[in-house]
Amino acid sequence: MTLEALGFFGGGEVTAPAPRTWFVPAFANVAVFETDEGLLLVDVGMRAFGPKIHASVREKTQAPLHTVVYTHGHVDHAFGLDAWLAEPAGKPRIVAHRDVRTRFERYARMGELNARINQVQFAVESLSWPNEFFWPTEVYDDALTLELGGETFELRHTRGESDDATWVWVPGRKVLCTGDFWIGCAPNCGNPQKVQRYAEEWEATLRAMADLGAEVLLPGHGAPILGAEAIRAALLDAASYLRAIIDATFEGLAKGLPHDTVVERVRIPPELAEKPYLQPVYDRPEFIARNIIRLHAGWWNGVAADLLPASLASRAKEIAALAGGAANLVARARALEASDAPLACHLAEWAHEADPSDRAANEAIRDLYTRRADAESSLMARNIFRARAKRAAEALFPPKDE
Ligand SMILES: [Zn+2]
Repeated sequence: MTLEALGFFGGGEVTAPAPRTWFVPAFANVAVFETDEGLLLVDVGMRAFGPKIHASVREKTQAPLHTVVYTHGHVDHAFGLDAWLAEPAGKPRIVAHRDVRTRFERYARMGELNARINQVQFAVESLSWPNEFFWPTEVYDDALTLELGGETFELRHTRGESDDATWVWVPGRKVLCTGDFWIGCAPNCGNPQKVQRYAEEWEATLRAMADLGAEVLLPGHGAPILGAEAIRAALLDAASYLRAIIDATFEGLAKGLPHDTVVERVRIPPELAEKPYLQPVYDRPEFIARNIIRLHAGWWNGVAADLLPASLASRAKEIAALAGGAANLVARARALEASDAPLACHLAEWAHEADPSDRAANEAIRDLYTRRADAESSLMARNIFRARAKRAAEALFPPKDE
């Protein structure tokens, strides 16, 4: 199963999973609710995809846009409003959790860092971070009920992938819009490059959602789920998946184990590991455990030598000298490539760190990480490996100036 096959990046036809309700599969998905007073949209997609999403909605309904709800302020959810604002009806009400504003303020300050992180995560050459925002016109803290055209929309805030999350329950239509609490694969609750996620609150949210009796689940990414039984089972499975990681992580931390060992001991129960909607194709359970550790036990990894460590270079030089030279590290890395890729990568990195100009070390790094990326299920891990291979390749053959 790949992210593409799961519909993670959108594409495909607009569907009507409930009366006067449309689902637009995009990056990210958009849910459209027609009411007697106008449309309510849950999310508006990425800025670049906004016009296409708008056009596909306008093939289905001409009702004026009244209200937009952001499930959170990520660039793929809250930036596709241009085409809507160009309509004669003018500016819609935009409702979001209070911290969406804080997020936008942070984005305005930290665009360069966010662009770099996402270039690596999504393996794109260049990426410009937005510095224009469609600010919420109305914010709330914990819960908010909107009445629009005779329809009730219950907005709830809990933390999960983000601290500014909203999920929406439409009881009259039995439709649940999860935002990124549901993305059709293992939850993005670990992400190695990004800010804190909240595994326990996420688990509790999934259990609360499971109790609603939803008959249509419209996710932030990936395909909708239809049918009360299927929805409840899927949400509870995802909750149990997070709980398994949380429990194993807490247990290891309570024993005072080094963080690497805590993570090694995390196991997903086989009956959950085989679920098609819990595959580690975006995030990974190991990363989720790291995020739980970061939240509760700080950044020190439990190895005393790593608290105030010797420099990377001095460690690598010493290891290379003990090995009889960096060439021996590289040779051993090559020998381990097929049987123990993680260990091989450590050896190659030590060789490189001992002498950054060593071509054989850079060649090994390029080859090892390329092979590892090819074998890796998780997009986040795969693209970090690819970025490392690329950096090594560029050190071997620096790009020529134009
Ligand atoms: Zn998203």
